Parts: sequence; C-alpha cells; structure tokens
Amino acid sequence: MARPKFVQIPSHSLERFEPLLGKDFSAVQKAAKKSRRRYDGRAIWHVSSTLRGGGVAEMLRSLLPYVRGAGVDTRWVVLRERAEFFALTKRIHNNLHGDPGDGGELGPAERQIYEHSLATSARHFSSLLQPRDVVFLHDPQTAGLAAQAKAAGATVVWRCHIGTDQPNEVALSAQDFLRPYLRDADAFVFSRRQYLWQGIDHGRAWTMTPSIDPFSPKNQELEAGAVEAILGAIGLGARSPVAAPAFTRADGTPGRVERSAEVIQEEPLPPDVPVVVQVSRWDRLKDHRGLLTCFERHLGDQGPRLLLAGPSTTAIADDPEGSAVWADVRSAWRKLPDRIRRRVHLASLPMDDLDENGAMVNAIQRRANIVVQKSIAEGFGLTVAEAMWKGKPVIGGRVGGIQDQIIDGVSGVLVDPADLEAVAAAIIAIGADPAGAGALGERARERVSGRFLGAIRLAEYAEKLTELEGTAR
Ligand code: UDP
Repeated sequence: MARPKFVQIPSHSLERFEPLLGKDFSAVQKAAKKSRRRYDGRAIWHVSSTLRGGGVAEMLRSLLPYVRGAGVDTRWVVLRERAEFFALTKRIHNNLHGDPGDGGELGPAERQIYEHSLATSARHFSSLLQPRDVVFLHDPQTAGLAAQAKAAGATVVWRCHIGTDQPNEVALSAQDFLRPYLRDADAFVFSRRQYLWQGIDHGRAWTMTPSIDPFSPKNQELEAGAVEAILGAIGLGARSPVAAPAFTRADGTPGRVERSAEVIQEEPLPPDVPVVVQVSRWDRLKDHRGLLTCFERHLGDQGPRLLLAGPSTTAIADDPEGSAVWADVRSAWRKLPDRIRRRVHLASLPMDDLDENGAMVNAIQRRANIVVQKSIAEGFGLTVAEAMWKGKPVIGGRVGGIQDQIIDGVSGVLVDPADLEAVAAAIIAIGADPAGAGALGERARERVSGRFLGAIRLAEYAEKLTELEGTAR
C-alpha cells in the first residue's frame, strides 16, 4: 500500500567469470555487448516482495549487479504491503506447492484483498515506467501488477519460482486464482518444464533454473581458519584464538563477521566432529521437524551432529509464518532426549547486513561434512547449488528442482523426504565412505560450474528476450 522501495544494485564486472567458464565465456561476452546496444535508453525492472531471505532475493542480488556491470540499466523494486496481503500471498505460495498452508480460502474476499492492496503499488510502479522498458515480476505477490505495467508500454515477464510436478487440487486452485492477472504478460518463466500451468500459452513459457554467484560473500572461497573464526563469532563454536572472522564484501572491500546469531545449543560445536547441516528459511516445507525426528529415531547418540540454520525471522516481511516455525523447531529441540539434544545445534542468523549474513551461511555450509535439504516441496533449492559449489556431498529430497541439480549417486544423493530411515541411511553411508563423499562433492562442484552459474543464465535471458521482442504480440 506504499510506494515500492528501490534496492541499490552495485555493479560487478562479468569478466570475473572468464577463468571459470573458459571458452564458454565468449557467449556471455557477446550477449553483454548485444544487450548494451539493445537496451540503450531502456530499463529492465525487477519487482519482488522482499529484499532479503529466500531464493528470489538471493537470485536477484546475485544476478543484477552483473547486468549493471554489462552496461544495462537494471532496477529492482520491492513491494511494501500490509501484513494481511503477505498472509494471503504466503497461502498462495504454499498452495502452489500443493500444500494447504494456513487452510484459508482463495475466494472473492481474498481476491478483493489482493487487488485492493496491489492497486496503489501498481499505480506508483507503472508511473515509473517508460514505453519499451522490460518488467520482470517475481512470484504470486507481483502478478497483479502485470496489466498496468503492460498498459504503460512495457514488455512484461512473470517469473514463477514455485511449482510442483503434479499439481493437486489445492495447487490448481491457486493457479486459477492468479491466472486472470497474467493474461497481459508477454512471457512466463518457470524453474522446470513440469511446473508449466494449464491455461497459459506454453509457446511463451521459458524454463530456466536459478543460479548462484560464485564470488558473493555466500559462495566465495574461505580459508578453514576463517570458517572456524566465523562460527566462533556467530556463537556456534569457540572463538578462534588465531584467525579473524574475515570475508570479502560484495563490493570488494574487506569485511568481518561482528554480529552473533541466536544460537540454541547445549554446548559449542567442537571443531573436529562431523556435522550434517541444513540451511533454509524457517518454513514447514523445509521439514526441520522431520530432520529432528530422523536424528532422534535413526541416528541416536553415535552419529554426526546436526546443525539447522536459517535467517532471523524478524527480517522477512513476506514470510509471516517464519517465527511460528522457528518457535516450533525450538520447542521440538527442547523436547528431544538429553543425549540427542546435545548433538543438535540451531542458529537463527541476523540479516541486518546481508554480506555478513552471506558469510555466515558460507562458513556454515563449508563447515558441513554433509549438507541435507530435506524439503517436502522445493521450487529449485538454491541452498543445494550453494553446497554443491562448495564441493559438499548433498542429500536432497527427491522433489522439485532438487532433482535437476543432483544426479542421484553421481553428484549427490536423492531420497524420498518422507522416508526418515532412508535419509538416515544416506547420512550413515556417506559418513562411512570419505573417498566416495569426496567424489560426490567434486562432481557436484563440476555440475554447478557447468549449469548453475549466474553468467550462463544471463546470456540465456538475453537470448530469450531478443526472441520475445522479435515476435512481440
Ligand atoms: N539464506 C540466507 N540467509 C540465511 C539462510 C538462508 O541468505 O540465513 C539463503 C540461502 O543461502 C539461499 C536462500 O536463502 O540462497 C534460500 O533459497 P532456496 O531456493 O533454497 O529456498 P527458498 O527460501 O526460496 O524457498
């Protein structure tokens, strides 16, 4: 209900990718050169509902600086809506994953809330547009802006980051709710082919996975000393007597982790014990509870430690369920038998400084011996690509986009997330075979390097947009 907020986008040079991409880099360079000419005097807008926490914000933070660096005027605005709107859009988000969420309806009253809330944002936003601008609208929260952006003369692309391979009735009715708002969109982007909806023009639907920025504070190389020092600074481990919790900020300047996290544990994480890590928002579909039960029932007091980390729930405006899930995870932790509880660590990471938060996630993922993403539903699962890039053996739920990242038994392990015994068996098997774990990690990194790095995706976007504008309706 307020003016959308502009997010500052730094400028990064695409040349950084040259050593990583080798001969494939020339396609990126060509796309950048063409785009500079093509978008001269035009702006490419992105609209999302939060600037921090979650995959959409992460993807925009990691791609847009390179678009700017390529000399294209790109902008990012974030919606500012009331809590009632975000409660409704979280329901739509859950429903699109096939989950009933808070169990509420998507009827005429909800349509009224949705349209009424977005009307002001649509007016403000479309007044910023020039004809021939390009607008990317991200996720259900922004679909209702399409008509006005189109009326302002922009090319409009709706990017849906959520989906399920076999939509159930709940998912279909969420699609029905949103479909009328998308009539005016020129193109759609989904993370997998299986996510394409009935009733939209498949000829105008692109399938493109998200990607990571290997140079960001979250994914950059970190020395083992810095990893331990960052875990110490967060409060998860002991403070390092020698190394500094240092990292390089997105703008290239030196940074240090100075804030601590809200850590729930019986004792500091010892430096030399094996740890299984899951990093994710505090969202039921990430199934933290299931992992706790898995450890309690099947891994007992001899196995590795478990560390669950996620963003502080006070920071994410568009995820109203986060604090309830975080409270629920803490309560489940308290109820664990003593001998299990002392092996489980919880961390809610501050989001005040996103570079610092990225460095925390980086250190936690690098400290892991095994990374798990036991989601029940997952649009893509950037945390999987992040861990694979760090050469970790990853165990992922056989759901959604996780299946596009991990080739089972080759670059990680896929499990039925409902089968706790299978999850535990995978953890035990990887733990017992260090050489096999190393090979999984190595192939995981190769896979990300060939498919999920930002520069590759940007070249694809440039090509798709050119095609779209060549066949503009
Ligand atoms: N994340 C973060 N800070 C945290 C915890 C998570 O920035 O404290 C990031 C995580 O590294 C990943 C994103 O949030 O980049 C989550 O994206 P994903 O696609 O895994 O799931 P989503 O949240 O979109 O459902």
